[in-house]
Amino acid sequence: MNTPYPIRPDVLAMEPYSPGLSIDEIRARFGLDSVIKMASNENPAGVSPVVRKVLCEHAAYAFRYAQSGNPELVAALGRHHGMDKGHFIPGNGSDEIIDLLLRVCPTPGRHNVVASRPSFSMYRIQSRLCGLEFRDVPLRADFSFDWQGLADAVDANTALLFITTPDNPSGYCPPVAETAAFARSLPDSCLLVVDEAYMDFCRRPEERSLLPRFDEFPNLVVLRTFSKAYGLAGLRLGYGIMPLPLAEAMRRAHMPFSVNILAEKAGIAALADSVFHEYTVRTVDQGRRWLAEELAALGCRVHPSQANFLMFELPPGCAVNARGVFEKLLSRGLIIRPLASYSLPEHLRVSVGTKEENRRFIELLREALA
Ligand SMILES: *Cc1c(COP(=O)(O)O)cnc(C)c1O
Repeated sequence: MNTPYPIRPDVLAMEPYSPGLSIDEIRARFGLDSVIKMASNENPAGVSPVVRKVLCEHAAYAFRYAQSGNPELVAALGRHHGMDKGHFIPGNGSDEIIDLLLRVCPTPGRHNVVASRPSFSMYRIQSRLCGLEFRDVPLRADFSFDWQGLADAVDANTALLFITTPDNPSGYCPPVAETAAFARSLPDSCLLVVDEAYMDFCRRPEERSLLPRFDEFPNLVVLRTFSKAYGLAGLRLGYGIMPLPLAEAMRRAHMPFSVNILAEKAGIAALADSVFHEYTVRTVDQGRRWLAEELAALGCRVHPSQANFLMFELPPGCAVNARGVFEKLLSRGLIIRPLASYSLPEHLRVSVGTKEENRRFIELLREALA
């Protein structure tokens, strides 16, 4: 691209984020009345009715700026987790916290960032945008973390190391003892960022999450989001839990109003609505078990998942490939996620949907494989 004004060459060389396709896009493309989306790990139960009511009540305040720093939400998060509220930084999705960490901690040209390959692409994309060296260490063949490989990639200039538990796109989640041992092994100069976007969906989160042991680790950041288990992906709300001096620096660099007034009110209401949260977790657990059995019955290889999605491979020797199945389902109005952008061209990922959506998916997959 040649422009009279400057555009950074490293930005021109970046690959854009590859999102799940949208319902409207597919409806228009294939002239369909209804489309099912099981591509972006959204909540199959939608938005909590309590949250919807709060959103309506506060619609009239949309003309106001939110209070800078969202103190009401931060206090609610502190109470929810039983922690000092000073550790919490809310953001415009946890994506914003990832971006902010990358801009606040490492110095371009000096520090590097480490993550697994494949992993959530935001880590790489935002690192590149910040002009940081990004080192990715392949996962093991079974999609577990190569702890030794990650440790070997860390040097005195590694500012941040990202892991995702449960992991995206595989759904794998290490036992917390492993994550804790790894956290202890890192040099103090390297922050360990544990992205727990899907932790709510673990069968026993207390055996998987590092958050209850937060105080043991001076260089730990945990990321959580309202996009998945709380059903608020479109409102954009996530948060980081981090050491106090880092939180203090993040507050300085933070855009003052990135968490809008409706997201703040919705987040507070969502935290209080344990009924909806439990319903979501139960729906996902049942749907995940059913989908895993049905996929296996069709001959697919299903990877064990602790998240609200399943990664699978088509039956060996089957006549269609992953791309073909994805396209076939699309044309019938069901969107799943091909994983070519994660360099996994033969793998597919499906988000757990409602009972009816899950059934429809299996029915269309059976048809596509026939
Ligand atoms: C979905 C997801 C998030 C959440 O992103 P938001 O910006 O909070 O919507 C974070 N990390 C991973 C790995 C995810 O898959």
